Amino acid sequence: MSTDALRIENVSKRFGEQRPTLAMRMGLSAPKPVVHALENVSLTIRPGEFVGLVGESGSGKSTLGRIAAGLMAPSEGHAQIFGRDAVRDKAVHRDVQMIFQDPQASLNPRLRVDQAVGEAPLVHGLTDRAGVDAYVAGLFRMVGLDPAMRTRFPHQFSGGQRQRINIARALALKPRLLVCDESIAALDVSIQAQILNLFMDLRRDLDLTYLFISHDLRAVQHVCDRVVILYLGRIVEELPARDFAGGANHPYTRALLAALPDLGQRRKPWVAIEGEIPSPIAPPAGCPFHPRCPLAFDRCRVERPTMQTIAPDHRSACHLNDGPAPKKESHA
Ligand code: SF4
Repeated sequence: MSTDALRIENVSKRFGEQRPTLAMRMGLSAPKPVVHALENVSLTIRPGEFVGLVGESGSGKSTLGRIAAGLMAPSEGHAQIFGRDAVRDKAVHRDVQMIFQDPQASLNPRLRVDQAVGEAPLVHGLTDRAGVDAYVAGLFRMVGLDPAMRTRFPHQFSGGQRQRINIARALALKPRLLVCDESIAALDVSIQAQILNLFMDLRRDLDLTYLFISHDLRAVQHVCDRVVILYLGRIVEELPARDFAGGANHPYTRALLAALPDLGQRRKPWVAIEGEIPSPIAPPAGCPFHPRCPLAFDRCRVERPTMQTIAPDHRSACHLNDGPAPKKESHA
């Protein structure tokens, strides 16, 4: 049995927690509000898998991505990359690299891009001073850039080219897992398609595993094997990407899909999800989606649904998987 590329077990993350001070204990000052960014999240990614993580802004996607990349410690639970602790085991940090949304902000404007790309492999001994130029040129070719451009500065590249440079920099340490956090969101649509194709080519050529964080459901459906849906810091559904559009089970996933504008059908109504995602400072009791769910019934307001396997590779957390709502109970 091969080791999982990523194993996240019962991970919770809270921001703003503080030890009670004397003033607090004496009732002279109130504790600051705590943000519950993630709550008891478990997720496994097998080697070579391309897994999409979707959800609205504020759902906790980026926090989960940083924990998966070993950049942030969970408040509770464990994250392992290829069987080793994602935070404490420094040796594992080369195995995972993160690619961020803003290609401009990710590069130092005063550093030539060959220096930006070549710095880490030099430090880690993957190349030496004599070989670093050829090493960087090889990475440029790998991400579809002309190696002759490698001595330029970041402002001399387009947005799409800058993102390719960031990908080259991530690949420079020969990672096995890439965490892409909205890494196509800042690009033009035509460039997005090119970067998605690059990700798929790299997966094939380098045997890479991906956690692909995006709010672009079409992109996720196009490139991913499996889709995980996060709502208010909780995974509410997990299913194969091929079933995403037609076989979603959870009312939140279905609402996300219904809110997608269909460019082919001009008259199709655009169904916005009711309300806004609640504050993670005071998450609702019961099902976190109940204040916005058109199918909510009494049980949803008091009892948190658990993840259940409803089909092979398909899990969902909704009380309706136990049977229809009792008739006498009114929907919200
Ligand atoms: Fe809606 Fe209830 Fe299912 Fe939550 S558990 S998604 S509120 S029906």
